[in-house]
Amino acid sequence: MRALEWQLFEAGYCTHAEWAARKGGSRHRCQFPALAALIRHPDVGAILFDTGYSEAFLRATEHMPERLYRVATPVQLRPGESLREQLRGIGLPSSDIRMIVLSHLHGDHVGGIQDFPRAMLFCAQRAWDDMTRRGRLNALSKGLLPGLVIAARNRLHWLEQRPAVALPPAFSDFGDGRDVLGDGALLAVPLPGHAAGQYGLLFRETSGRMVFLIADAAWSSQAIRDGVPPPRLVTGWLGDTRTYRQTLARLHALSRNAPDVRIVPSHCSEWRPDA
Ligand SMILES: [Zn+2]
Repeated sequence: MRALEWQLFEAGYCTHAEWAARKGGSRHRCQFPALAALIRHPDVGAILFDTGYSEAFLRATEHMPERLYRVATPVQLRPGESLREQLRGIGLPSSDIRMIVLSHLHGDHVGGIQDFPRAMLFCAQRAWDDMTRRGRLNALSKGLLPGLVIAARNRLHWLEQRPAVALPPAFSDFGDGRDVLGDGALLAVPLPGHAAGQYGLLFRETSGRMVFLIADAAWSSQAIRDGVPPPRLVTGWLGDTRTYRQTLARLHALSRNAPDVRIVPSHCSEWRPDA
């Protein structure tokens, strides 16, 4: 497995009550950063995993009924904080991003795809099918903003069509992965339960450690360490509670059996770049 350089960015954050993300949590409102990863592949170049919030997300949720998205989870994105602007700040123009892997199609993950018009987009066909069969309000109620994704339909490719590969032994509980690039460097790993067709991304970093970007399969590293899921009300509303808890149990076991693996949730404060 080729070692890859990578870096996390925070593209805005939202706030909601702790209890929504953790069973037995308080009513205190917490910040949930929208993290996205930049991964550099020696041949392919710059690859993103998710995109966080963006100007396009703010426009898409400006008016009712989509405004309800921001009422439910108020979003903070100040000027200069979008992923596109931050990447430009490190000398990476948006045209240099050639590929984006989308963990799933919730608005806080696809918000920035229009900012990278030259990037091929990879996601699960299952996620697309689930989104497009829903009406506008039904999609919105599940955290989906179909307009953002449908506008980029001609750039979408399906993870299910990438070659199936056995994952390294420590990850075998997760089933087969998908070899995103065809060279074994970047493996998409099914993480069902949170939303239809959710995938994480597994690769080796230059230190030699494995990195497992797990999107919303857990909302915090603490939840993985403890094995404590969000309440049924939330996981059942967004996806499937039983499957969510199976996936979380696998992550909990992985964290114990392979403590060297960096397991990175998309919305965990511990992984904020400035934390
Ligand atoms: Zn999310």
